[in-house]
Amino acid sequence: MGVILDALHRLQEIERDLNRLRSKADTYRRKITQGQQLIDANQVAYEAHLESVRRCQVGIDSADLDIKTREDSMTKHRLALNATKTNKDYAAILTALNTEKADTSKFESRILELMAEKDELIEQSKVFEEENEKLEKRLAKREKDLKDFLEKTREDSEKLEKARADAASEIAPSALAAFERVAAKHEGEAMAEILRAGSRGDDHICEGCNMSVTLEVVNKLRSVDELVLCHTCGRILFQAHANASA
Ligand SMILES: [Zn+2]
Repeated sequence: MGVILDALHRLQEIERDLNRLRSKADTYRRKITQGQQLIDANQVAYEAHLESVRRCQVGIDSADLDIKTREDSMTKHRLALNATKTNKDYAAILTALNTEKADTSKFESRILELMAEKDELIEQSKVFEEENEKLEKRLAKREKDLKDFLEKTREDSEKLEKARADAASEIAPSALAAFERVAAKHEGEAMAEILRAGSRGDDHICEGCNMSVTLEVVNKLRSVDELVLCHTCGRILFQAHANASA
């Protein structure tokens, strides 16, 4: 008994080392993703900011057009003023002219306001550009960290992959499939020792999930060389002493 478990134990050791490498690489990858998200968020904010700049310009253009319209009208009114025959017409045209003059000066102030606002917004754009530069630099550093890590661990990783393939080739396909299923569910930790528990040490628990393991399961593990899974977490159970004697 214990031949299968022994082989699975070797596989578990290799799997654990591989997982350590993978999870470190994943940490680097997560940081890269986060870095990219920060850049994207800054870009979105920057675009909203540029939209405000564009809105200012639209306001300026519109006020410009309003002034032009008033000026054309004022030119016509001035000509009409010279040609007018009655005092009543003269007064009416003069009133229109004055209103147009007042409007024009209102639009001119509006343009000055918008131009100041636009200048200020353009000045603030630098903040987004600087932030982007900073974030891009940080992202490049993180990408380099990942690349360095993968390069540094490539040899180890290849060795482990080969050792894993060798160890796996010694295990029956059904047992290997069971192992891989459980390993995928528990971050590579497919196996769990049965620990003694209780005041008299005659209770048993699974070290993986800390739930109790029945005596029936313990006895089965002792008597057959096949996989016995924890009823609660599904990990492949083993007993340290049984393993040592194998
Ligand atoms: Zn369990």
